Amino acid sequence: MDCIFCSISKKEVSADVVFENDEIIAFKDIAPQAPVHILVLPKKHIAKISDLSDDDAMLIGNIVNRARILAKKQGISDSGFRLVFNCGDEGGQVVDHIHLHLIGGKKLGEIG
Ligand code: AMP
Repeated sequence: MDCIFCSISKKEVSADVVFENDEIIAFKDIAPQAPVHILVLPKKHIAKISDLSDDDAMLIGNIVNRARILAKKQGISDSGFRLVFNCGDEGGQVVDHIHLHLIGGKKLGEIG
């Protein structure tokens, strides 16, 4: 299986990593949509949100919590930010490995 985010997690491909532990890695998006654009994801391969099981609830909670901590570190906690999981083709997902976008540092437009 050829997955760019698995390769980054295994350090086979370089990225600007801002956090990692055994479960989660976070790195800067290669094509940022705002001054802060970080991807937070599980190291284990899960293709998309609809593939999650109930057992993954804690993992997703940890990913959202990590995004909260990173937002604080980036100084955008009070000004506000956006967290986005794209899911599937119509949801705009391009990389088939679950990732949470943390986007902020400027006034963002409305969605939709
Ligand atoms: P999505 O449309 O939700 O699947 O978003 C995929 C995101 O991954 C996009 O914002 C890309 O810019 C980003 N991306 C793709 N390849 C890399 C990479 N090698 N390093 C960092 N970000 C990447």
